[in-house]
Amino acid sequence: MKKLSRNDKVVVLTGAGISAESGIRTFRDSGGLWENHKVEDVATWSGFEKNPALVWKFYRQRWEDSNATKPNAAHYALVDMEKYFAQHFCLITQNVDGLHRIAGSINPLEMHGNLNYCYCTSCRAKFDMKDTDAHVAIPLCPKCGAYLRPDIVWFGEIPYYLYEIENSLKKCDVFIIIGTSGSVYPAAGFVMTAKLMGAETIAINLDAPDNLSFIDEFHQGKSGTILPSLVKKWTAMV
Ligand code: NAD
Ligand code: ZN
Repeated sequence: MKKLSRNDKVVVLTGAGISAESGIRTFRDSGGLWENHKVEDVATWSGFEKNPALVWKFYRQRWEDSNATKPNAAHYALVDMEKYFAQHFCLITQNVDGLHRIAGSINPLEMHGNLNYCYCTSCRAKFDMKDTDAHVAIPLCPKCGAYLRPDIVWFGEIPYYLYEIENSLKKCDVFIIIGTSGSVYPAAGFVMTAKLMGAETIAINLDAPDNLSFIDEFHQGKSGTILPSLVKKWTAMV
């Protein structure tokens, strides 16, 4: 078990598994479908063009579901890590539920967007989901009248913060993945980049992730149960 030094540059990547103990189903748990919908119908631009009302209904439901949940012990353990490593710490998440921010993480790089927001398909102005009218099937931009869309990076679109992420991967000493299957790219490839750049790699996951061959230290189990004690050990808080 590695003990980390306070000056180590630590990068963490989280996925749907970290929110499973908060009651949000992972992608895999849904059997390849996303809440009974085909991914291409609800998580692609062409799906939105075909049926924007369905896509809005789907994300409004995801937003309401995630609003009814709370961060769990793993989200809070990462807040402790951020306090300990301060400017040497970078949190990247594939999750769109916003739970890292609610837990208190200051600047998670939400590379796939956040359910709490939407933006205009024409002028790109950004809005809070709570300011959109739930009775309207397809909310329109108050500024220019075009369709709004959820602020979610769909399949085939370019994730956010790739420049910042690449920089952090180049510099990191330790790269930790938590609750991610290692099957959705480009995030699944970050561990390989970090490893090739010389970082120590650690995984905390219920099942073996697809990119296990790039992992030096694998802790199998539920992140809400095992991450808090790992963080205490890593940071020598016990
Ligand atoms: P995934 O569903 O492909 O994999 C989840 C992984 O988490 C699995 O390997 C599973 O073994 C593990 N896991 C399940 N419960 C766990 C627990 N309690 N502790 C630790 N590990 C646990 O998720 P992914 O790799 O993040 O990719 C799915 C994509 O779908 C992402 O791009 C994400 O944006 C999106 N998504 C997001 C959410 C969310 O925001 N919470 C939920 C579902 C899907
Ligand atoms: Zn607009």
